[in-house]
Amino acid sequence: MKKVLFCLAITLCWFSFTQAQDSAYVRSIIKALTSEQMHGRGTCYKGDSVAADFLAGEMRRIGVLPLQVNYLQYYTYDCYSLEGPISLSLNGTELLPFTQYRLLSTARYAKPASLEKATWKKQLKDGTWLIGVDQLDTYGPIVGPERSDPVCIEILNSFIPKRVKKIKADIPIQFQKDYKTQNVVGYVRGVIDSMIVFTAHYDHCGTMGDGVIFPGAHDNASGVAAVMDLARMSASQKPYYTMVFMLFSGEEAGLIGSQYAAENPLIDYSKVKLLCNIDMFCGGDEGIMFFNAKSNNTKDIFEQMKSLNDEIHAAVEIRPRENRPNSDHYWFSNYCPSIFLLTMGQPFGGYHDPDDTCEKCGLGHYNSFMQLIKAIAYLQ
Ligand SMILES: [Zn+2]
Repeated sequence: MKKVLFCLAITLCWFSFTQAQDSAYVRSIIKALTSEQMHGRGTCYKGDSVAADFLAGEMRRIGVLPLQVNYLQYYTYDCYSLEGPISLSLNGTELLPFTQYRLLSTARYAKPASLEKATWKKQLKDGTWLIGVDQLDTYGPIVGPERSDPVCIEILNSFIPKRVKKIKADIPIQFQKDYKTQNVVGYVRGVIDSMIVFTAHYDHCGTMGDGVIFPGAHDNASGVAAVMDLARMSASQKPYYTMVFMLFSGEEAGLIGSQYAAENPLIDYSKVKLLCNIDMFCGGDEGIMFFNAKSNNTKDIFEQMKSLNDEIHAAVEIRPRENRPNSDHYWFSNYCPSIFLLTMGQPFGGYHDPDDTCEKCGLGHYNSFMQLIKAIAYLQ
């Protein structure tokens, strides 16, 4: 253990001589990704592509090299998008989108639970189901998988009149066959070929009609910004390891971009010493959750991070968790040591909520958390 801590100390010293992490830069990336022009980085108005172009341009500007032409690894998937104004009224009373009703993915939520249990339900002529619920489910992108699946709209029971005589719904949801999207991929050549890979998903939930935008600051503009900050630091001085940066789309619809990247490799995963995925990195008052802490090829990495944290008290706690398909690291865990870090505790604005804004995204722990991440990356 002494040797490990000595290495950690050397690493921290080395970092103090190189360019320091910059939470102002991180804030600027979160701000750009959460702006209205990004349309919530979903499939509506091609918000994901707008964000990808911004991130590719940023990689070029800071001196990261492309792993694909223009940094973009294209792929397609079937999805839905919802553009333009939406409206829903019962007996002439207009309901508020998101707070009083939400669209659901039929496949993910409605079929198994809501539809069967609903105390009130009504199918419209176009097949759309309206379902009364006591509590609205978490919002997410509307994902098929079958075009024939009806659209489901949950409505809070408290806003459904006793006798519903008139329903007016205008929800122009569009099925998109083979929707074209992309991962953003770049690298910085190191002294040796062995690689450290940082990943994060840049997509989010898009919009729900023109009035509701999901900015996704915590989820996951914050993780993207952290990866871009690591890219910026790596490009400013030749690193020892070759550093790879992969930013995925399609995460909210089911880890689709990362699955594509894992199955269509642009790098040799046998040379990857560590793949570190960052997803939801604002806040952190309660510490860090470390997923895939117990596998044979990752448990030492967890112990290193924990030992360092015991020395420098960067996080209140680093909590180990088993591997789970809950973020983009998952597909890579078959090929290389893959971990997923997420912050625990406030401050952040919300989860899959229009309140997940840049202003509410706290970065008070950012610099100390980055000390931990950089140290374990350079210790492999
Ligand atoms: Zn999410």
